[in-house]
Amino acid sequence: MTVSTQPLSSQSPEQVAAFLQAQRTAYDELRARGLKLDLTRGKPSTAQLDLADGLLALPHGTTDAAGVDTRNYGGLQGIRELREMFAELLWVEPEQVVAGGNSSLVLMREVLTDLWLKGAVDGERPWGQEEKVTFICPVPGYDRHFTLLSWFGIDTVTVPMNEDGPDPDAVAEIAASDPSVKGMWVVPTYANPTGSVASQEVAERLASMTTAAPDFKILWDNAYAFHHLTEDEAKSADVLSLASAAGHPHRPIMFASTSKITYAGAGVAFMAASVENVGWYLDHLGQGAIGPDKVNQLRHAQFFGSAQGVRDHMARHREIIAPKFAAVDRVLTERLGGLGVASWTRPTGGYFISLDVLDGTASRTIELARDAGVALTPAGSAFPHKDDPYDRNIRIAPTYPDLADVSAAMEAVATCVLLAAAEKLASA
Ligand code: PLP
Repeated sequence: MTVSTQPLSSQSPEQVAAFLQAQRTAYDELRARGLKLDLTRGKPSTAQLDLADGLLALPHGTTDAAGVDTRNYGGLQGIRELREMFAELLWVEPEQVVAGGNSSLVLMREVLTDLWLKGAVDGERPWGQEEKVTFICPVPGYDRHFTLLSWFGIDTVTVPMNEDGPDPDAVAEIAASDPSVKGMWVVPTYANPTGSVASQEVAERLASMTTAAPDFKILWDNAYAFHHLTEDEAKSADVLSLASAAGHPHRPIMFASTSKITYAGAGVAFMAASVENVGWYLDHLGQGAIGPDKVNQLRHAQFFGSAQGVRDHMARHREIIAPKFAAVDRVLTERLGGLGVASWTRPTGGYFISLDVLDGTASRTIELARDAGVALTPAGSAFPHKDDPYDRNIRIAPTYPDLADVSAAMEAVATCVLLAAAEKLASA
């Protein structure tokens, strides 16, 4: 049957009924295929991990550039040459960088724990002694940011995530009016899941806005800073300089890691902030650590050789994953284009595509996909408390499966989107 590309909502009840019947048939055929595919995992594929296998033959020698034996205790801030390399990439100074263990999410949890138990360098008391602590959460966003806040008992207030970053007017209004609002999440570059890139203007607004809490923090999670999918490479705003120039040097705390550059389970994570914030963090870290895995840091420094080495390495990732993102876009365009039942992002970097289906049909689409053997991230995952107020957002993670599986899975997803939409419109 030829599918009308007229928006489904403007088709006659008879046309919608015929469309629904056709989608039911297509779905029954899909289920009969017994697929077993997974689009939930925002992790590198084996081919991407293989790119970093040079690490397994490193380091050559065990002393770093400063002559320190990396096998021994000490060096809490991380080895200098790796901090210099990532300082250049993140547009900060080496003194502002800590190189830690393998996970930036752990650094985020530690920073929040320190704020909670000990208070900020510019705060009056530990956050845990406040009556209430609230965080601004741009949505859709990264699920683990939100579950981490829930774990602390931190309240959340959402703002829209636009193409150029969090809505600065909404953020400024909330931050200025309520002293319990102590901070916000920002994924500035190729955000999870929308692919948005915070513009220089948005970054400047966030760095300079008036906040009711003197110790307001921007947790600037630059997990995808170098993860370009096209030659049009986004440059992250230099939030530390912007905040410093605006008189709020301790406001931003930046995070990054090599999880999606080398090995997701054995990379190096970074924190960057004002020198005072770095000292504050290391003081607290020192209560439970004598030094990080400097051997891993040394082999990373040798593997990349320079900041340019990191950029060159990312170009090899791009060759592997850009075709997968293109496949998602192709299938969605071919199958859903013109029907007015979905819109989706075309990210120029990062790990995700954010698919918005007809309001009220995301859960049903995900359920249909599950029953047809295609795993999608649970509905609402990109919102605090898993509460997508419109039940429309679905996060697509195309990096892990191979290219043929990505296409097959997206064909299946498209069938489920159409069936869920037709069911809804037919019952309206
Ligand atoms: N931040 C964002 C926005 C992410 O999407 C992810 C992983 O998906 C992480 C952090 C996790 O980073 P890490 O592996 O360094 O803990």
